[in-house]
Amino acid sequence: MTPWFDPSLLFIDGQWRACASGETLPVVNPSNGEDIARIARGGGADVDAAVKAATAALEGDWGAMTAAERGRILLRLSQLVLDNAEALAQMESADVGKPLTQARGDVTALARYCEFYGGAADKLTGETIPFQQGFTVYTLREPHGVTGHIIPWNYPMQIIGRSIGAALATGNACVLKPAEEACLTALAFADLARQAGLPAGALNVVPGLGAEAGAALTAHPGVRHLSFTGSVATGRRVQIAAAENIVPVTLELGGKSPQIVFGDADLDKALPFLVNAGIQNAGQTCSAGSRILVQRDLHDDLAARMAEEISALTIAPAGEDARVGPLVSARQKAIVEGFLEQARPDQILARAELPEGLPEGGNYVAPVLLGNIGAEHPLAQDEIFGPVQVLIPFEDEEDAVRIANGTKFGLVASVWSADGGRQMRLAKRLKAGQVFLNNYGAAGGVELPFGGVGHSGHGREKGFEALYAFTTLKTVAAHHG
Ligand code: NDP
Repeated sequence: MTPWFDPSLLFIDGQWRACASGETLPVVNPSNGEDIARIARGGGADVDAAVKAATAALEGDWGAMTAAERGRILLRLSQLVLDNAEALAQMESADVGKPLTQARGDVTALARYCEFYGGAADKLTGETIPFQQGFTVYTLREPHGVTGHIIPWNYPMQIIGRSIGAALATGNACVLKPAEEACLTALAFADLARQAGLPAGALNVVPGLGAEAGAALTAHPGVRHLSFTGSVATGRRVQIAAAENIVPVTLELGGKSPQIVFGDADLDKALPFLVNAGIQNAGQTCSAGSRILVQRDLHDDLAARMAEEISALTIAPAGEDARVGPLVSARQKAIVEGFLEQARPDQILARAELPEGLPEGGNYVAPVLLGNIGAEHPLAQDEIFGPVQVLIPFEDEEDAVRIANGTKFGLVASVWSADGGRQMRLAKRLKAGQVFLNNYGAAGGVELPFGGVGHSGHGREKGFEALYAFTTLKTVAAHHG
C-alpha cells in the first residue's frame, strides 16, 4: 500500500505543502503495529492558512459557481472515487485495520454520497411566503461560509462523504481535520477532488493532533459552522468552542443503541443483523447495536444462538478480510479491555477465539457477548466502542421501552417483532434519531437523515436534511406597492 501522493504533506489552497512546524507523526498499521507512512503534524498556523484559502475560494471561483456546476464537480468526484476504489480500500484497510470487504463498502458509500449530494446541489430551493399587500417575500438558502469538519477514525470515508459532500453541494468551503489515526483517505479524497475540478481552497485538509490542529480549527473566528463526530468529551469541547464564536455545530457522539427482540420476532431473519450490528468494524461504530434487549421467554434460546454465531466469527489481519479485524490502535484496545475487566466470568456468555499466529503488534480483541448484567451497570450503559454486546432480558413492551430509553444516549434503535401495532408504538416512543423496524442500519442509508438526541448529539447529517444544516436561511421582503 503506497499512496499516489505524499501523505506527509497538507492539502491547502489546492496544493500540497509541508506543515509550518515541519514535524510529522507516524501512521501505524493496526494489524501488525508497523509504521507504514508519516503524516504532517498540522497546527494553528496551518489551520489559519487553510481558513484563509477557504475564505478566498468563497470570494473567488468557488463562490461564483452555480449550484449545477458544484453538482457536476461532485458527480465527477463520485466517479473518480469509484475509479480508484481498490486503492482507497487498501489504503483504509492498512491505515485503520478495516477488513477489506468493509473498507470496500466504505468506498462505495463515499462515491454514493458524492453522487447523492452532486444530484441534490441544484434541487435545494427557498420558498415564497404570503404576506401583506404590496410585498413579495421569499427565502434564500445560503452557505454558512467556511465550514470546519472534525472526523474520527472509525468510518473516515463515510463521514467525509456525508459531511464534506453536503457542505460542498451547498457552496461552503471546507477545512477538514481528520483523526490522526486515519488521515490517508482524507488526503486521497482531496487529491481526487482536485482532479474532479474543485477550485483551489474549496477543500483543505490539515492532519494533526486533536488538541492542536483540531482545537485550532474549532477556535478559529473565520469558521462559520462546525461538524464533529467523535466522543462525548471532545464533542463538549467543540460545542464550547463553537459557543465562543457563536457558530452552529453538528455533533454526532455515538451511543449505546438497543436492538429489541420480542417473542414473536423472526429470529432467523434477525440473528445475522443482531450479531453484525455489534461486530461490524470490530464494534467501533457510533450506531453499533450493542445492547440486545430480549423478551424473557426467548432469552436462553437467543443467547445460545448468538453464542454459536459469535464463536464462529473469523478474526484476522485486515488484509486477510475476515469478519473481524484489529481495533484501530493500542489505545483503543486498552479502553475495550479495561471495560471487559469489569465483567465477572459468569457474565461472559460467549467469546470468539483469537486464532494462533496473529501478528504480535496487532490490536486484536475477540468479540464478546455479555449477560447477567443489570441494565444500569456501566457495561450496559457506556459506549465501549469494541466488539462487545450485552444481552438484557425484558418482561413486556413497557419494560422494553423503559430499558431501551434508559441511557444518556439516543442514536439508533431497532424493533424485531411481527406485531405492526407494536412496531408503530415503539417507533414513536423510542428515544433515538433513527428507528429500524425488522432491520438494522438500512444498508448504510446515504439518503436517510442521521443523528442523535441526548448525549448522542444534535443536528442531522445524511439525506437531504444535511443540506439544510449546511445552509442558513435569509428572508427577503420586497415592498413594491
Ligand atoms: P475523539 O472524540 O477525541 O476524536 C474524534 C476527533 O476529534 C478526532 O479527529 C480527534 O483528533 C479530534 N479531537 C480530539 N481532541 C480535540 C479537540 N480538543 N478539539 C478538536 N478536535 C479534537 O475520540 P478518540 O479518538 O479519542 O476516541 C475515544 C472514544 O471516543 C472511543 O473509545 C469512542 O467511545 C468514542 N468515539 C466515538 C466515535 C463516533 O463515531 N461517535 C468516533 C471515534 C471515537 P485526533 O484523533 O487526531 O486526536
